[in-house]
Amino acid sequence: MRGNFQKNGIDFGTDWSGKIANLLNRLTTVRDTNKKDGIFWFLFISLFICFITLIVYMTGGTNAYVHLMYVPIILSVFIFDKRIAVLIVLFAGIMVGPFMPFNIKEGIMQTPNTWIFRCIMFLVVMLIIQVLLGHIRNFNDLEKKKAYEDLFTGYPNLNKWKSDFNCLPANLDCCQMVLFEVINIETIARNVDYYTSQETYKKILELCSGFFKECQVYAVNANRILVSVLEENAEEVYGTVKELISKSKQPIYINQIPVAVILKAGMVTMSGQEEPIEEVALKMEKALDQACHSQKEVVIYNKVISEEISKHYDMLVAIYHAFNNNEFHLVYQPQIDSKSGRMIGTEALLRWNRNPYQNLSIAEIIKIAEDAEFISTITKWVIKNVISQIKVWENQNKNIRVSVNLSARDLSDDAIMNYTMECIRLYDILPEHLEFELTERSIIEEEGRVFHMLREMQGHGIHISLDDYGTGHNSLLYLVKNLFSFDSIKIEKMFIDHIENPQNQLLIEGIVKAAHKNQMKVIAEGVETKEQYDVVKKIGCDIIQGYYFSKPVLSVELEKMIN
Ligand code: C2E
Ligand code: CA
Repeated sequence: MRGNFQKNGIDFGTDWSGKIANLLNRLTTVRDTNKKDGIFWFLFISLFICFITLIVYMTGGTNAYVHLMYVPIILSVFIFDKRIAVLIVLFAGIMVGPFMPFNIKEGIMQTPNTWIFRCIMFLVVMLIIQVLLGHIRNFNDLEKKKAYEDLFTGYPNLNKWKSDFNCLPANLDCCQMVLFEVINIETIARNVDYYTSQETYKKILELCSGFFKECQVYAVNANRILVSVLEENAEEVYGTVKELISKSKQPIYINQIPVAVILKAGMVTMSGQEEPIEEVALKMEKALDQACHSQKEVVIYNKVISEEISKHYDMLVAIYHAFNNNEFHLVYQPQIDSKSGRMIGTEALLRWNRNPYQNLSIAEIIKIAEDAEFISTITKWVIKNVISQIKVWENQNKNIRVSVNLSARDLSDDAIMNYTMECIRLYDILPEHLEFELTERSIIEEEGRVFHMLREMQGHGIHISLDDYGTGHNSLLYLVKNLFSFDSIKIEKMFIDHIENPQNQLLIEGIVKAAHKNQMKVIAEGVETKEQYDVVKKIGCDIIQGYYFSKPVLSVELEKMIN
């Protein structure tokens, strides 16, 4: 597979191929001989030949010094084209040819065979060097191509952008740099094939090339496209980028397969002041990152973005430190059996003791941790604490199931499952006292593998519940096609909020029936009032959770409730 799909920015690493190409270039390229230089070198080499002729003459005739003549001949190959080099060879051959005696002292002249053969040898050596030089130059050109061209697409690459950037005219008033990312290129490669993903990338490159008036398009990291637009009006370029993105939404056909592309862009306006290239690249990254993490398709870099990103970073650092300083704890929200009215389960929810960001909810904290790939550390901590709490309750003969929320990243490999099994063994708890809640969003990628892992956990006795039921795209499929036998599904609070609506009631009734048919329990989440409770009970929901019974509380308070 060509390169990795690099997500983490533009790589400004050492460009060795570029350096080698440069060196070869300097050694082998014909000097840019303008007319003046050409005359100078021609005179120089001619004088050099005359000088060698003088040495040969003064040393008594055509002896070993004749071989000095190869020096100007080889030099001429490097400096001039073939015709002039041949002229120089002939000149050198004649200078040490018919008029140069073989032995001056004894007055012996050369035979024509001798000097004609020498002339031919000069010519042969010149031609051999010419051919060798041609090969080196071809190799050099290829290296240059490798250094400045994306070999798969043929478009200029990041090295070329760097070199072009340094050559931007100093008097340039304003230009725009736009960094596009084909967000779903990896998904296309995984779900269709690698060839299709790269052909799609090529098509988007072509689209970009044809969209802007005066621009240069660069292929970056096999999933990104950098466009440098020589246009002062940022608004106009912004409009064009939006237009391009909406055009890219039409399916692209690769071998008659329609491929849908998700394109996002970050844009930076360069306003004539000199700015280091790293700065511009970073700004593009930040703008693109902002677009990727929002509903927006294009984001123009500005100070606000920069501040938002550094605030986001500060929050991440604070969360990280808080976690290491044990500033997190768990609260538990009861789940009530609708028939018996007894508490049969509880959901463990994370809390930050001294959250300095007052309006930052736990859901947002989880999102930040997910983005920074820090969530699995948190999840492991939650699992360990929940299992040790289960052990405490088991020792008190309290038969209660505790559910833990899992994130998409937790399911990306088997690590969480292995860790859970380790903890279950270590604390020696009944696995059926543990439940995992996961959303449809977290299953969507690698569905087959995730289901396999979930089945394995179910095989050990752990319960698996589908959270936020009704908010995903495939919710119905999980019931109708029975893709996986969840132990329970949790109906999203949003449905309960509007349960007074008869149509909503009908919908939930249908869900309950389908779930029961598949031996799944139904949990109604976010039940706040007696009216809501009565309705969900009547409809047939098995388990009820919500402020109507209790807000999430500390474990000691929950124990009191059980008692
Ligand atoms: P969730 O999994 O949907 O959890 C239910 C949320 O609804 C909880 O909010 C709970 O306090 C709230 N809730 C329950 N009943 C009611 C009610 O009657 N009325 C209202 N207004 N709200 C109710 P919380 O604790 O703020 O958690 C928010 C989200 O954060 C959770 O949504 C879950 O996605 C995530 N989360 C919390 N703890 C963890 C955790 O340990 N790991 C992971 N991965 N996610 C967690
Ligand atoms: Ca949940």
